[in-house]
Amino acid sequence: MQKTKVKVGISFILLAILFLLSRQFLLFINYILALIFHEMAHIYMAKAKGYNTNTIKFDMLGASIKLDNRIQKDDLFAIAFAGPAINFIICIICTSIWWIVPEMYVFTADFFKFNLLLASFNMLPIEPLDGAKILESIISKHNKKTAKIVSLTINILAIIVFVILFVVSCFGTLNLTYIVFAIFFATNLIPKRRVNFDVYYKLFFKKSKNIEKINFLHVQPNCTLIDMLKQTREGYYTIFYCELNEPIYITEKEFQKIITNHSLTDTLQQILTEKHNT
Ligand SMILES: [Zn+2]
Repeated sequence: MQKTKVKVGISFILLAILFLLSRQFLLFINYILALIFHEMAHIYMAKAKGYNTNTIKFDMLGASIKLDNRIQKDDLFAIAFAGPAINFIICIICTSIWWIVPEMYVFTADFFKFNLLLASFNMLPIEPLDGAKILESIISKHNKKTAKIVSLTINILAIIVFVILFVVSCFGTLNLTYIVFAIFFATNLIPKRRVNFDVYYKLFFKKSKNIEKINFLHVQPNCTLIDMLKQTREGYYTIFYCELNEPIYITEKEFQKIITNHSLTDTLQQILTEKHNT
């Protein structure tokens, strides 16, 4: 299995220095611990659903994980919810411990606070937070387009609210946190490089919309349909190649037919032998 790369952003190092300068090192350790539990829960759930975690990146406002494949709609809820859920569970465990051994409060109060903070902050339905993904997974079950519009509207509203809060704070006690949040949510509105490239591509080579690149994959016969589905890529036309008794090619169109008539946990071998028998 592929190892997960760990990246640490400059903003995270700055945050660490800030904590150190204010002699709050223990506080920082508590924050990191809560954050690690949060991200490990995402990673654990993603792995359980059959994804490979490529990178985990630590930033000022938390950490994020990058998976090798695009998350399927059905898996999004569980993977996004796992992070805040573990922090909530830790909060419950902490309070239970305090109830039995009240002396423990002093040692675990900060850890509890960070877990509560991470859980509640991440449940906000604003991209790129987990709450947005949870909301998206619920709405997109019914309508994908509505999910996108709702997500974009919430993001813009959140930016406006935080900018207003910052401007208001300029007249009283200046609060830089508001503008940091506004920028954080705004960065999510900047189109990713790939999308940008696609736009230029379509502008200059209009004919190309009738042509798709081919995603040509060699699959083992014991591969499940769900694993194959995860390998399909947007903007690509996928062709699977499998060697059973003879070489077999399955085009994306044929594959779509197969997945509508079979269970996603069926293996390719099961389907192909079934086809031969009938
Ligand atoms: Zn998360």
